[in-house]
Amino acid sequence: MSRRIFFNPITGLFFRLTARRPKRKAPVNAEIERLRAQAKEELPPRLAQLAAIHGFKYNKVFIKNNLSNWGSCSSLKNINLNLRLVTLPQELQDYVMLHELCHLKYLNHGPQFHALLESVCPGHREKAKALRGIRLC
Ligand SMILES: [Zn+2]
Repeated sequence: MSRRIFFNPITGLFFRLTARRPKRKAPVNAEIERLRAQAKEELPPRLAQLAAIHGFKYNKVFIKNNLSNWGSCSSLKNINLNLRLVTLPQELQDYVMLHELCHLKYLNHGPQFHALLESVCPGHREKAKALRGIRLC
């Protein structure tokens, strides 16, 4: 938690601001570096394969070390994948990649997005549920 002291010249009082919630910092250690190497080797080819099968076109793929999401997709059509994906069963890895690929067409979680995701990843809601039970750490 970061706390900084500020001075308000109008009231002549000091006040303290407390940052809302600190982002959990992703660790960097030998285990993470091992996972990163594995992720860089395994995830981009699988993403390319899934994209080819289902006719998605993305720009670049990046392997990320973060604790806030398993994957993300930018408006520039870049896909970010969490290096911890390689610790998941293949079915859940594919779910995350297909989820991000569907964001290339819909940058939201609306009904059209879910319909598209269901068409390329049947039973996707069960997979999303399973994933929610796995904590990123
Ligand atoms: Zn999403």
